[in-house]
Parts: sequence; C-alpha cells; structure tokens
Amino acid sequence: MAAICLAGFFAVPDGSLLQVVWQVGCGWLAAAAIVVAVRRHRPAVPVLWWLIAAGVAGNAAGIGVETILTRVQVDGGFPSWADAAYLSLYPFTAAGLTVLIRHRSPSRNWSTAVDATTLTTGVGLLAWIFMIQPAATDPSIGLLGHIVSVAYPIGDILLLAMTVRLLLDGTARNTAVRWLTAALLLFLGGDSAWAVVNQLGWEPGPLAHKALACVFLAGYFAFAAAARHPDVRAVTRPAPPRPIRPSRGLLALLTAASLIAPVLLLAETAVGRVEDTLAIGIGCVALFLLVVARMSQLLTQLDLQSQKVRELAVTDELTGLPNRRAWNAELPRALERSRREGRPLTIALVDLDHFKRFNDSYGHPAGDRLLKEAAAMWQAHLRTVDTLARYGGEEFIVMLPDATREAAHEIIDRMRAATPLGQTFSAGVATLAPGEHSDELLARADAALYDAKRAGRDRVAVA
Ligand code: GH3
Ligand code: MG
Ligand code: MG
Repeated sequence: MAAICLAGFFAVPDGSLLQVVWQVGCGWLAAAAIVVAVRRHRPAVPVLWWLIAAGVAGNAAGIGVETILTRVQVDGGFPSWADAAYLSLYPFTAAGLTVLIRHRSPSRNWSTAVDATTLTTGVGLLAWIFMIQPAATDPSIGLLGHIVSVAYPIGDILLLAMTVRLLLDGTARNTAVRWLTAALLLFLGGDSAWAVVNQLGWEPGPLAHKALACVFLAGYFAFAAAARHPDVRAVTRPAPPRPIRPSRGLLALLTAASLIAPVLLLAETAVGRVEDTLAIGIGCVALFLLVVARMSQLLTQLDLQSQKVRELAVTDELTGLPNRRAWNAELPRALERSRREGRPLTIALVDLDHFKRFNDSYGHPAGDRLLKEAAAMWQAHLRTVDTLARYGGEEFIVMLPDATREAAHEIIDRMRAATPLGQTFSAGVATLAPGEHSDELLARADAALYDAKRAGRDRVAVA
C-alpha cells in the first residue's frame, strides 16, 4: 500500500493540485493507519501513538495549507499557518517519544544520557553554525520569521537527541521500535538534505525535488508500519540493560562527534574566516566535559568490578564463607597477633561424616543444601571473633582466637549439636605452640581429625 502511494506520487503531474492532494492523502492515510492499528493491537501505552498520529496528520496538513495560501494568495510569505502545521510534528512526536523513552528505560542510565548528549552536542553545533545562527540573523524575515525558521532546526535536534537515545537503548529485538527509528531517521535525513541543499544554494530539479518530498512521505508510512507491527504491544517494555562499555561503532561515532568542534575551527581557519569562535568554544567545553564524564563513569564501573572480583576471589560461592585462599592469608596474621599479645590461638578442622553416603542417598543438590545450612548454623554458634572458612569439599576450618584447648572443645561441641538434618562431623583441634609455624599447626589439626575419624567419627580429637 505504502509502495503504491509512493510510486503514485511520482506518477502524478508535478505542481498539480492532484500532487498536493496525494501528499496530504499519504500523510492522513498513515495517521489513520496508526489509529486503526492502535485499536487493533491495543498497545500498553496508546497515548504515544495518538501523539505520533497527530504529528503526522498535522505535518501533512502543512502541504495543503501552504498550497491553499499560495493559490488564494492571501499570504504566500513566510512564516505562515503552513509552518505551524509543519512544525506540529515536533512537539507531538517529541512528547510521544518522551513517553516511549520513559517506559523503555525506567531507571536513569547515565552512560546512555552522556552518549546521547555527546552525539547531539556535536551535531547541534553544526546545526547552530550552518542553520540556526544564519536563520536567526537573516534580516529579510522579521522576528516571527526568525523564531519559526529557528524552530525547524531546533525541532530536528530535539528529535535527533531522542532518536539517538532510542537507538542507544537498543532496538534489535523489537520491529516496531525499528520502524519508529527508521521514520525518525527519514525525517531527519530529509531535513538534513534540505539544509545541505540550502547551504550550497543549489536549486534541485523536479526529480530531485520529488525524491526529497518522497523521503517525508516514506517517513509517514514508516510511522504507520511501526504502529501496525504486532511488536507494537511490547514497545514500552523496558529495554534490557545496556553494557556500560560502548561498542566500536558507537565509540567511532562519539569520537567523530567530539571532533566536530575542533575540525570546524580548523576549517574556518583554513578558509580564513574564523567567525564562530564563541559557539565552537562552548561546543569544545561541553564536549570535553562530556568525555570526562564518560571516562569517570567507566572508571567507577571498573572500580566496582575489581572490588567484586576481589570479593569473589576470597569467598566460597556455595556457602558464602571465606574460602581457603582467604583463610591462608588470614592464618599467619592471626598467629602473629596471638604471639604479640601473648594470647592463645586454637584452630579446628571440621569434616562432615559420611558425606559421600549422604550425597548418594539424597542427591548432590541435597548435599549442597546441607553444606550451606550447616555453614549457617555453625556460624550462628560461633563467637564474633571466630572465623569459619570452607577449606574444601565437606571440610571446614575454624579459627578461635583467645580460646584455650578446653574452651575450643566447648565451642566445637556447640557446633556439633547445631549440625542440621541429623548429620554429624568429626573435628581435629590444635592449639598454637610456642615457635610453631602455621603449616605445623595445620598438620597437627589434620592428624587430630584423622584420629577422630578412626576412633569412630562424630567426635572431637585434640592434638
Ligand atoms: P568421612 O566420614 O570419612 O569423611 O567420609 P565422607 O564420605 O564424608 O568423605 P569422602 O572424602 O569419602 O567424600 C567426600 C564427598 O564430599 C565426596 C564428594 O563428592 C563430596 N563433595 C565434595 N564437595 C562437595 C560439594 O560441594 N557438594 C556436594 N554435594 N558434595 C561434595
Ligand atoms: Mg567427610
Ligand atoms: Mg573430607
């Protein structure tokens, strides 16, 4: 249908009334298609589509209004009511996109915001120098003319910022969002093409004129295609979180956007016409600050990740207890402290009895649960100064500072009583002897554990 409408536009005679009717008809048809599609698919947030339909209908109406005004020659000048109709696309679409973006990324994503702002600032600077500033200072059009002609590029920059935001949130999995982005890019592309044409002072021939007009008609239909796709039901679903690290393509775009300001300055210097120093200066400052902001975000992220890695390196995944690596690092320090303060230090190796049998009877996952629950229960029966660590498999180790052999025995007995699911363990206890190395202390505890196992399990043996 859209293809027929676009092909038909090329077939109707140039400058005829039929051509205008055709163009307005295309826009209104697309707006009607959006309304019908919303009633059929019932997307979660219909208002966004009503807004877009209103923007499309208003923009298309502008073509008709302009023709009527020039034909009746009431007011063929600039600005006119036709501009109001053309411009209505911006507020309606921007409002719709705001609703969409709010829903797709409910939580603030600063890296996306910074990236979108960087790209928009770069392009915005170009627009300022080549479109906004000349329009704002054109002596032939009066104040209202200035306001209206500045409103077009500003509207484009606003839509560009939102399109970039939408693209950064990821569109890959939703065809409706992809069509929506395509529609926005068509409008932005069409407007940019006109801006370049005007900048170069080129008079496009009838075919080029038609091709450019066709871009906007394609934009209308792309909006309709977005609303008509079944994916439209899911467009407001939150987009999956985006990796903080920019992809290569995005990095290239960000680099290009950041270089726009200095390159403009070089270009103006090369042609010996440096006029926009203030705009370029402000652009440079903004872009530098954005780059620094992005860099500090990445560094913060890196800090968080390395802290997480450090934590993971010393934590046992299943039980959440310190692992053997953490224990090995802690033991020499504890030995040193005990010697310096002249206080006793006792350690105990704890090994679940017949754990293999438990696994075989109830399954490995049940074995895992037992390890987890036992660790939690034992921990609850230790003093705050004690350290329980997972030494490996079903073997745990406890450090009991300030505990004599007898006190340690008592604490370990409390742990034994707390072992869940009717299971038991054996423990080998060793108290630090004067001048003893940590390896020797561990070896004595291990030997005591072996004794406890040999003596029938479910008991504590003291080295
Ligand atoms: P003993 O009373 O002599 O200590 O006998 P045991 O069966 O407890 O000891 P053994 O060393 O023969 O078997 C230990 C078992 O612990 C074997 C291994 O599959 C199991 N195991 C080790 N790590 C894990 C774990 O993370 N999860 C589970 N479910 N089982 C584990
Ligand atoms: Mg065992
Ligand atoms: Mg064992």
